[in-house]
Amino acid sequence: MLDPHKFRQDFPILDQRLGPSRDRKLVYLDNAATTQKPLSVIEAITHYYRESNSNVHRGIHTLGERATALYEDARNKVRSFIMARHSHEIIFTRGTTESINLVASSLTRLFQPGDEIVLTEMEHHSNMVPWFLAAERQNLVIRIWHVEDDGQLDIGKLNDLLGPKTRLLALTWMSNVLGTINPIKKITQIAHDKGVNVLVDGAQGVPHLPTDVQDLDVDFLAFSGHKMCGPMGIGVLYGKEDLLDRMPPYQGGGEMIRTVRLDGFEPNVLPYKFEAGTPNVEGAVGLGVAVDYLRSIGLENIHAHDELLVQKTLEGLKALPSVRVLGPKSGRGGLAAFSAGSLHAHDVAAYLDRFGVAVRAGHHCAHPLAKRFGVVSTVRASYYFYNTLEEVDQFLETLGRALDDL
Ligand code: PLP
Repeated sequence: MLDPHKFRQDFPILDQRLGPSRDRKLVYLDNAATTQKPLSVIEAITHYYRESNSNVHRGIHTLGERATALYEDARNKVRSFIMARHSHEIIFTRGTTESINLVASSLTRLFQPGDEIVLTEMEHHSNMVPWFLAAERQNLVIRIWHVEDDGQLDIGKLNDLLGPKTRLLALTWMSNVLGTINPIKKITQIAHDKGVNVLVDGAQGVPHLPTDVQDLDVDFLAFSGHKMCGPMGIGVLYGKEDLLDRMPPYQGGGEMIRTVRLDGFEPNVLPYKFEAGTPNVEGAVGLGVAVDYLRSIGLENIHAHDELLVQKTLEGLKALPSVRVLGPKSGRGGLAAFSAGSLHAHDVAAYLDRFGVAVRAGHHCAHPLAKRFGVVSTVRASYYFYNTLEEVDQFLETLGRALDDL
């Protein structure tokens, strides 16, 4: 079992007291929104700016070569982290949102009017709105895979949803509200049997579960650096080489071209075809160090620790009157979202904050899902490997007091 105390010294931000008299120890339980960064990541970024900053792939000078080597080394670290076959299948983006927008803008240009895209009801807006935009632009049809009362998808319903016109199934690996972990490998097999490509939103899955894209056999995987100890503003789109090769460029500009004439251009090879303009080099460098850090802990260990914390949380929440937790009872990731009777989620979160406990309140960018479960907003506690069982206790105790006082 992983010992979270061992890692906390790597995260100076966690070791602080809040409030005017600095008497509230920070309990950071908003990791599904963004995680904290270890010193190795913070220092790698500083070091990059002190020693190597330059634009990449262009300068024929030492710093340019250094920056390029660091950037491409980061790409290779990410490739290895998700077990992709080729490093040119790793495209650096701003994050999950941009990765999905890239596919929604580019891949769909290969579709015909009337072609269908299947989404689930548990998607984050990032994995809904880009498809709605594409559907509007190109007369595509969106079909929805609804969520069952227990917060899971009924795999038996998938066959009926995938028809002769279905081109893509886009779904989350782990729900950021329900905590549900979808069986991606099984789902992908069913979709592929029907000739349907699969895009997985890995924003919550990749930071918390071992990832092997070749084993999962997904066609696309999108994720964000900032939810896995990396910096903000950097993310990844993994795509299978043959699909990425067939897709037209997403944005135009420097780097994504091989040649430009006055009447047109030739796109560059992968992955540069999809990386127009100066990239986020410091972000990539930081993400590379973040994946080294996560690998040194072990993703199996991180998942087991998530399960431990969330089971304790679910037991504690069960004992609190008026609390209703969304999502499955087991087989879920390290987060719990709940409503508390008629109390507004923001009031509960603000009360917890007064005692140093940082949680998120709201619809968590999943309006349709909130509607499905008849809630306007929920409070969400979400964990990472540096959270301790004592912090879960502190959260539950403070929540108990909130329910009495509010
Ligand atoms: N998908 C899921 C499941 C998420 O939880 C999030 C962020 O909360 C996103 C997508 C969007 O990620 P980003 O804002 O980093 O692009």
